[in-house]
Amino acid sequence: MVIVAHPDDIEFGCAGTCAKWTRAGARVVYVIATSGNGGTHDPQYTRETIAQLREQEQTAAAALCGVHEIEYLRENDGEVMPTLDLRRKFVAMIRKHKPEIVITMDPTVMFSGDGYINHPDHRAVAVTAMDAIAPVAGMPLMYPELGPAHKVREVWIQWTPNPDTWIDISETIDVKAEALRCHKSQVSDDTVAMVRSWALEAGRGLTPAEAFKVMLLEKRTTGS
Ligand SMILES: [Zn+2]
Repeated sequence: MVIVAHPDDIEFGCAGTCAKWTRAGARVVYVIATSGNGGTHDPQYTRETIAQLREQEQTAAAALCGVHEIEYLRENDGEVMPTLDLRRKFVAMIRKHKPEIVITMDPTVMFSGDGYINHPDHRAVAVTAMDAIAPVAGMPLMYPELGPAHKVREVWIQWTPNPDTWIDISETIDVKAEALRCHKSQVSDDTVAMVRSWALEAGRGLTPAEAFKVMLLEKRTTGS
């Protein structure tokens, strides 16, 4: 399961890994907190029509990566807060889909370099996802009406300054680029080229890669 704030956060982040995992037979579900209903400067759109377009773009991008399901939570873009209400929604998603691994964003990142303040929705989604995963989703007395408790085994954090795990995406970098291109309302050819260069940087020039910090909440067993 991938939990992010906006349509396109996955294609800028972990889409190459997701595509690699679906090719290997994994079931992958995206949970997108907002449908990006504030994400345009173009006056032809309303909040409703830009959200519809961005869901279409995200759905097309996910299909290219072989993703099995997308859950759109339709929070307001730019207004996501780490509330109990959002935590409850993430717990419901985790208990419904029972993921072994959740990929999400980094709750500790406020700045990136000297030119980017991390989007507040990214921070809110990241901290709420962590709180939903551990311990709440795994505790049977918490939100029993949302279904049986489920323990996520591993949390993988994308867009982190402290990676410890690198996934070789040489076999899926092209599909990642095409998936990113599906977000026509958001990206240009230059953006796609930039994301390709990020992959080469992450792979230290050896191979295109995606970098993560991985939290092992349950010990890995041989063969898993
Ligand atoms: Zn975003």
